[in-house]
Amino acid sequence: MSTDDPRSRIPRTDALLTSPAAQDARTCLAEGRIQQVVQDVLARARRGDIAPESVEPELSDRLSAERPSRLTPVINATGVVVHTNLGRAPLSPAAAAAVQQASGYVDVEMDLAAGVRSKRGTAARDALLDACPVAEAALVVNNAAAALVLATTALAAGKKVILGRGEFIEIGAGFRLPDLIESTGARLCEVGTTNRTSVADYVDAISEETGCILKVHPSNFRVHGFTRSADVAELRSAVGELPIVHDLGSGLLAPDPTLPHEPDASTALTDGADLVIASGDKLLGGPQAGILLGKAELVERLAKHPLARAVRVDKLTLAALEATLAGPTPPVSQYLHADAAQLRKRAEAIAGPLGVQVVPHDGRVGGGGAPGVALSGWAIHLPEKVAALLRTGDPAILTRVHDGACLLDLRCVPEQDDARVLDALRAALGS
Ligand SMILES: *Cc1c(COP(=O)(O)O)cnc(C)c1O
Repeated sequence: MSTDDPRSRIPRTDALLTSPAAQDARTCLAEGRIQQVVQDVLARARRGDIAPESVEPELSDRLSAERPSRLTPVINATGVVVHTNLGRAPLSPAAAAAVQQASGYVDVEMDLAAGVRSKRGTAARDALLDACPVAEAALVVNNAAAALVLATTALAAGKKVILGRGEFIEIGAGFRLPDLIESTGARLCEVGTTNRTSVADYVDAISEETGCILKVHPSNFRVHGFTRSADVAELRSAVGELPIVHDLGSGLLAPDPTLPHEPDASTALTDGADLVIASGDKLLGGPQAGILLGKAELVERLAKHPLARAVRVDKLTLAALEATLAGPTPPVSQYLHADAAQLRKRAEAIAGPLGVQVVPHDGRVGGGGAPGVALSGWAIHLPEKVAALLRTGDPAILTRVHDGACLLDLRCVPEQDDARVLDALRAALGS
């Protein structure tokens, strides 16, 4: 190799590995990954694909594009608040900070004052009981499906679970609740018809063999017309001591007038449910979790069941849940109750400079909740082809494609991201 061969000017591997770009990358990437990127860039230079002088800048670009997690942050401009494909509820800044704090060593099972081991998750449980004072006790597990498995296993394994026919539901992604319950060894006893089930249907089905009565909120659909179902209060007065478990689905802790058909934990418990189940990352706006609230004796029975250990939550979930409940209004609740006039103003501030229209657009609750409820708001009306550019851009922006248009709804976009949205739109529209 002669000295005027440009390849002689290619930086050495060890120089690249100690370059500022490589040093910076060490805070978030494994050494092996950094070495691999260095080798890739060097190989391109040796093949003559890039000039020797471009090696360092190229390495810097490549390393800064690498991320320790391949999950891509997304701006949710669909208007769907609890967006299942985007990880349901976004955490509040308070919850995110609590997760960060809990990521190191924390006193999750330690009483620092006494210097002895303590019960796990007490703070999150206390926060739940503060938010839902009618509950005697609370337990947090991995998700609502796990809560349902734990409840039916502990109360009805080898026995019958009575469930109204209209409540044999599929939640999404092929998740069928009846299959889940039967997987626990409980036998489902179906009562009533698709559209009508009475208290007498339940009462007639009760026997020695019955472990519990289950009510399941149909979540993602509604039945209209000639319908009837037995509510918790009616069942309570008719079924004696038999435990009534109510799977609320989304998980409001108290009624919300915006969502009149969504059941809530406080009302269900007041009406006589012994145990209610809710998701942490739907309307509650927190981390993925299954929340069990109800009678102390039943919650204790569940907590002591061997299966409880298999569905236990980690410290990060406990921290996020507590901060969601004790901190400021979480994003899900802010977005649900966003003011339409304010959304219109923000949309117009972006659409104006681009010369595009703002149109009325209804947001949705999502996550299988409140299927009929339209959250009135506004969207920026764009050519359909913009949707793919926004989705694959940086930042990634997910919009709603409908009727040949790309609709960008700011309901679930934090206001401080409006400037990024405008920049991304400028780039996508080429204006
Ligand atoms: C969403 C839902 C579940 C499952 O909740 P996860 O937290 O996702 O496990 C269970 N039951 C009902 C009625 C639901 O709506």
